[in-house]
Amino acid sequence: MTLTVNPIADIIAPLPKGLLIDGQFVPALSGKTFKTFNPATGEVLAEVAEGDVVDIDLAVAAARRAFTGPWSRFTPFQRQQCLLRFADLVEKHFDTLALIDVLDMGAPISAMQARRQRAIGLPRFYAGMCTVIAGGTLPNSLPGEVFTYTLKEPVGVVGAITPWNAPLTSTLWKMGPVLATGCTMVLKPAEDSPLTALRLGQLLLEAGVPAGVVNIVPGFGPTAGDALARHSDVDKVAFTGSDLTGRKIVEASKTNLKRVTLELGGKSPDIIFADCDMEAAVAGAAMGVFANSGQICVAGTRLLVERPIYEEFVARVSAYARALKVGNGLDPATQIGPIVNARQLERITSYMEIGISEGVTAAAGGRRLTEGALKNGYFFEPTVLSGVSNAMRIAQEEIFGPVAAAIPFDTPEEAAAIANDTPFGLGGGVWTTNLSTAHRMAKAIRAGTVWVNTYGGLDPVVPFGGYKASGYGRESGTEHLDAYLETKSVVMKL
Ligand code: NAD
Repeated sequence: MTLTVNPIADIIAPLPKGLLIDGQFVPALSGKTFKTFNPATGEVLAEVAEGDVVDIDLAVAAARRAFTGPWSRFTPFQRQQCLLRFADLVEKHFDTLALIDVLDMGAPISAMQARRQRAIGLPRFYAGMCTVIAGGTLPNSLPGEVFTYTLKEPVGVVGAITPWNAPLTSTLWKMGPVLATGCTMVLKPAEDSPLTALRLGQLLLEAGVPAGVVNIVPGFGPTAGDALARHSDVDKVAFTGSDLTGRKIVEASKTNLKRVTLELGGKSPDIIFADCDMEAAVAGAAMGVFANSGQICVAGTRLLVERPIYEEFVARVSAYARALKVGNGLDPATQIGPIVNARQLERITSYMEIGISEGVTAAAGGRRLTEGALKNGYFFEPTVLSGVSNAMRIAQEEIFGPVAAAIPFDTPEEAAAIANDTPFGLGGGVWTTNLSTAHRMAKAIRAGTVWVNTYGGLDPVVPFGGYKASGYGRESGTEHLDAYLETKSVVMKL
């Protein structure tokens, strides 16, 4: 896409900046706002209404009214029509939505274009699900003539809390199952990138989704987020974010024992065997960790490399890292955009110091970039650390930046042991031309998704989620809709 627009005047200025409650964009009751920044320039992008506990109360009440009111009378077919119209609008406005992500979060426009199919496909996938959600009949053995069947009913009001790293797709991911199952929702987008969700809220109204079905309350985690997780009239929380916050969500959810699903962080292993297709493995593993500046939950941050090719692989992946074009995401040539904010940049930099104190070497990168046009943004070089052992902090803790830690191994058993020696279990990769090795490793890695000879691709039909401290529950696939449904058994004496 060639940029013929003025990003601030044409893209950001027309966006709604209020809270979406009961079909209206309104200021926060407190009148407070907060600023959102362009991480490529450090400039203020917009001021957005700052929701707090009282606004969450209003949004939850609106979601409850819509749940028991108009939305409950929508047939599955009518919900499907809403989702299809919404998908058409996402398709029509995709270029603008993509630019909002570029400006608010820093994603490169080239990467956003690659997400086009997924963004449009998500609401279409969920539209397809609306009319196939069904209970069943059961062969009950109670004495007499007993007819037994199950009903699938929406769980109710869903509180959805999202991270900042992929605003467009992670918001669509949360909206889809809510609308498909007949639930309603209050969404609290991340404070670093709230604008895309507000635009999507506008498009939902245009698609004919009744007022109150989707409410959007930007605000901060400890206030608006906590109020949502704690609210006793919220039936389920769907959370995506860090494991630290996930633990707080579980704690807060105890108020009414609401259902909770958690999509948390990771420290995913990407295992490279000596018999791999080296060129494909270098490119695949590099983009598996550097894409989105490493700010991806499934980033394959631990490169486990079979010892005979360790030196060569580290050299080649380092050369690949150095050749990546880092810059403002508005430039179509940019492959790696900025880090989302100064705090996150500082965190990544501090991990470099930790790594060096632990004895590792930066085979590529390792520092902030401030040359020329990058000087006011939050840019960090794609980095490859060599000489890493899995016990080191840089191999155990989620850095959430463009940092790969290369660890050698000698046998498949050792590779599996290192891969699983982590509190997390979100993703994993295997690069090999040996089919048996591929299957054995896919089975051995304790993680929700294992990619073989590819890395990181997501599709709405494929279940996605974590083992261990990477969370519980799944998103995508068909089974995960159960997390948005209650099953009611009806036992009837004839
Ligand atoms: P975060 O946990 O800091 O914030 C996520 C969301 O939770 C934000 O909206 C934030 O405002 C809110 N929040 C913060 N404190 C809260 C509280 N006490 N109560 C309720 N809500 C609160 O995470 P982040 O920094 O925005 O995102 C990065 C993290 O998200 C990484 O750990 C990454 O791996 C994870 N992530 C996971 C997935 C997945 O699908 N598994 C996808 C993307 C990101």
